[in-house]
Amino acid sequence: MNNFARRLTQVERHLEAQRLDAFIVTHLANIRYLCGFSGSSGVLAFSGGERRFFTDGRYTEQARTEVQGAPVRVSSLPPLVHAAQWIAGREKRSRSVSRTGIEAEHATLAMQTRFVSELQRTVPRSRFRIIQTTGAVEQFRIRKDAEEIKRIRKAADLASSIFPGVIRALDPRITENDLAAELEHLARRAGAEKMSFETIVAAGRHSALPHARPTRERVGRGFVVLDYGVILGGYCSDMTRTVYAGRADKKAREVYSAVLEAQLAGVSAVGPGVKAQDVDAAARKVLRKHKLDKYFTHSLGHGVGIEIHEAPRLAKGQTQRLEAGMVITIEPGVYIPGKGGVRIEDMVLVTDTGHEVLTPTPKELLLR
Ligand code: ZN
Ligand code: ZN
Repeated sequence: MNNFARRLTQVERHLEAQRLDAFIVTHLANIRYLCGFSGSSGVLAFSGGERRFFTDGRYTEQARTEVQGAPVRVSSLPPLVHAAQWIAGREKRSRSVSRTGIEAEHATLAMQTRFVSELQRTVPRSRFRIIQTTGAVEQFRIRKDAEEIKRIRKAADLASSIFPGVIRALDPRITENDLAAELEHLARRAGAEKMSFETIVAAGRHSALPHARPTRERVGRGFVVLDYGVILGGYCSDMTRTVYAGRADKKAREVYSAVLEAQLAGVSAVGPGVKAQDVDAAARKVLRKHKLDKYFTHSLGHGVGIEIHEAPRLAKGQTQRLEAGMVITIEPGVYIPGKGGVRIEDMVLVTDTGHEVLTPTPKELLLR
């Protein structure tokens, strides 16, 4: 059984367990995961052991090439309407549609309304119920299979491979924007499909903003936070390194080494069976020892896969236990307002026996 067939079967078993007669997947990342389609318009529908993939005319060729495990239906109708008609038609052939699932977190109210009104053109409203599902597909995506890990590994390797080139381009006179452009150019040239999120180049006092956007200001002197990732084979990578432009004073070195110590403590805590909140706490504890914990203002990390931010979340209150096959980031940071900040981020695979760091770039403080 190939990966798509296995994933589709998993979802069908879940639908059965939830007593869902039909189910439509509208979230593109879930569609890609289940049947391979990488375009931007489509609906994957399940009903009574059958599946169909609906798309529009722009994707005829692409869908026929990419989609596995579900017959492709192309129409000038919106895919959602086409899917509703197919499900309604199933009811005519005495397949129940009385409990039809829709992805609550992804289908907008407008989509749900449209879907219902299309269904009830054929099926009396009293004969079906819309069940809002959460995580029906995501629960399987959280643990990556061998093929996915291979792709994530390649994406992480590619991002790391351009890092030395980025450092060569880093000069106090270059602007954050130009450095970001240089970084993205290198990523493209190395084969990246695209960046997995907006590249962060944050220099000097900007480095104190966890989600700074590159500006047209020069890098100058001080910390430079570089947070970026690429998509390769449909899978994201995510890494952060902080370098220092100029001569780092004692205080700057202390902050850097505290963040690195916290990052290493976080990585060390990763293993199967460990609660997500405990990994967060392990890193936070180190920063508390250095009296820097109040400057660590975000959670420790997140899952990465087809999407840049996936489950699990590594944060206070997250009692979910890590499992082998999860790919997460460990990214503590210290942000001192008006001064500067440091963040160090690796991707980490949870293995049967512990963990493996997927980001090969070294982490000692680089001076430019
Ligand atoms: Zn990042
Ligand atoms: Zn991240």
